[in-house]
Order: sequence, then C-alpha cells, then structure tokens
Amino acid sequence: MRILLYLLLVLLVPTCKSYEAKTYEFPKPVDTTTRPITLQTKKVYELPDGIYADNLFDGARLNNIERTDANKLRADIDPENTPINRSPYYAFRLWSNEDQTVELELNYSYSRHRYPPKISRDGENWELLPEDKLKLAADSINAFLELELSTDTLWVAAQELQTSKHVRQWCETQSAHPAVQLSSIGKSREGRDLWCLDIGVGDSRKKDVIVVLGRQHPPEVTGWFAMQAFVEELLAEHQMAQRFVERYRILVFPLLNPDGVDLGHWRHNTGGIDLNRDWGYYNQPEVRNVANYVVETVGRNRSNVILGLDFHSTYWDIYYTNRETPEQIPEFKDYWLMGISETLGEPTNERPSWLGGPVSKNWILTQFNAPGVTYEIGDKTPRDFIKRKGQVSAQEMMQLLILRN
Ligand SMILES: [Zn+2]
Repeated sequence: MRILLYLLLVLLVPTCKSYEAKTYEFPKPVDTTTRPITLQTKKVYELPDGIYADNLFDGARLNNIERTDANKLRADIDPENTPINRSPYYAFRLWSNEDQTVELELNYSYSRHRYPPKISRDGENWELLPEDKLKLAADSINAFLELELSTDTLWVAAQELQTSKHVRQWCETQSAHPAVQLSSIGKSREGRDLWCLDIGVGDSRKKDVIVVLGRQHPPEVTGWFAMQAFVEELLAEHQMAQRFVERYRILVFPLLNPDGVDLGHWRHNTGGIDLNRDWGYYNQPEVRNVANYVVETVGRNRSNVILGLDFHSTYWDIYYTNRETPEQIPEFKDYWLMGISETLGEPTNERPSWLGGPVSKNWILTQFNAPGVTYEIGDKTPRDFIKRKGQVSAQEMMQLLILRN
C-alpha cells in the first residue's frame, strides 16, 4: 500500500505541477480591487444648424456635446472613473447638412488638455490639426478647435485611432511569418481576446525568453507604434534576425487592455483599475492571464525569462528601469540603451528607480530576477522617428544578445 502511494505521488505530482505567477508584497502597494466605471452613452447627437456628432465606433470617447452659441460647440470629455492619471483621451465624429466652420471646445472634467487633435476623413488616415486651428483656454485646461464641417464625416481624436481590430489585423499579418504562432491566451473582463505572438524557431525547451508587453494604457498609441516596429524588426529577412529567433523565444502581448481601448478609456480596464499597478496581485483578469501564461510557458519549458519590455507613452521619450542589478543579463540594459542612443544620435533619457510599486518592470525583476524596462515614447514624438527607434532598439538588442555566451 505504501509503495502504491509512493508511486502515485512520484508519478502524479510532476504532471500536476502548476505554474502560477507569484504574488509579491511591493514596498509601495496599490489597491487594485475592482471598482465601478461609468460608460459613455453611445449615440448620435442631433444639434441645431444641421450639425451631428457621434461616438458609435470602437475607441470613441464623447460624453456629451452641445451647441452653446452660433457656430460654437462644447464636447464633454470625462474619464471612466476617478482618481485617474491625466490622459484625457477623446475621439468622435462630426458632420453637418451644409459646409460650416465651428469652434469646438473640448471640456475636460478631470484633466487639462494634453493630446494635440488629429483629424481624419476615413478613420484610418490621420493628420495633425494645424496649430493655428487650436487654442488653449487661459487656464490651459480646455482647448478650442476650429473645424470645417460638411456632409463628409470628420473624425477628431486625441491620437490616431488604433482599436483591438487594428491590433488583431497586425497580429494576423505577423503570423504569416513561419517563426510566429498567434494565439489568444485568455480573455479580458468583457471577453475580448488577449493575443500572444509566440516567436521562435525550433525546440523551445530551455530557450531563454523575452517578454514584450503593450497597450496597458489605452491612449498610449505612440508606444504601440514603437512596439510594432520593434517586433517587425525581429521578423525581418536578415541573418541577424533569423539567428536571433533560432536562439531566443519572444512572447509578445501587444494589447493588455482591449476593453479600455475599444471603450475609449483614459487609462483603466473595465474593472476601473490601472493594469500597470496590478502586477503581483493579479486582481484583474488581463494581468492574471498574461502573468500566468508567461510563468507556465517558461516553467513547462525549463526556460528563463531574461528580459521584459513594456511599451508605453508619456510626454517625452524615456526609459524607466530598475536600479537593482538583476541576475539575468546584468550588463545588458546599460549597453543596450547606450547603443540605441549612439545609433540615433540622441542622449539616453533613463530614469532608474529602486523597487517600488506593482508595475510590470518590477514584476519582471521580482518574478524572474531579470531586467524590466518601461519603454516610453512621447505623445508628440514624430511618427517616422518612432518607427526608426523601434527598429534600432530591436537591432541593438539582437546584436548584444547574440554575442552572449
Ligand atoms: Zn502607460
């Protein structure tokens, strides 16, 4: 009987081994338990003078719009809940029965104006509203836009519209590459897919893993542009990239917050939480699913995560890094950032910090003893430069990691 029991234990325990992300008590804790959000009313607004506005598309944010005077409109832009980081995202459409010029006030309830308006006639091709058509209120809180309305729909948005549909299309395009496996590793609170591009060639056992995260914060479209260029460079048709994907496995999670993106949120998921404060608690399904997937994948393959990169946007380009020296590739980060700066001819803007709150870079450090980098692109960084920076960042990373023993 005892021998049977022993055999049962020996045979069953390894197969039952579960790989779950570890919880961690960070020095600066944050409460990430779910809280309510307010949804915007989705509708077409019929205004005087034959003017119409709507928010009936994914990624829209318009809480109300009114005509306040002849040729004057006021659009209310509110966050999903508060308190919240000041990322006052907006996106809506306007049209009118006849050509007219209007002054539209962006009326923010919990922030000052941040994102220079972009306009589009089709929701896909965007340009910056000319500077002379944008004025700020004396207190710099609200903004006034001069807009030309016509029967042709005018799209107005804080950043180029990039919804879960765009991310999915991009993922599908990348998955045509033989080194890429695309899968949905779980669902968001509202049941949207959490995509993973699993990149690598050959046996993945014991292969070192790089984790790439994106779009925890919905309006951070410039970080998403950088992430796209970065990943595309790993899949480029040159020898270095081919050698790299033979040697390493890269797990890319391009859209952590699909609900927030499609609902036009400023910051949070539909649990009302900043996902980049939930790493180590896993109260929100988006973080929990991705964290467990990474831990399970590396556990099953006896692999190590050696690096985590999380793409974001803020007012300017900056890297947030760990002050601690990680066990994995301890020298990598400094040489990498130096290489990017030298190639691009710009100074390195890095802000290292000691372990603090439950953000992804600290999760990479505490969970895997590997460097985590929050890779931030400025809201206004020129789009062609973002693309080049993403490519260069990938090239410099590949060069350094291929040279490794
Ligand atoms: Zn962010």
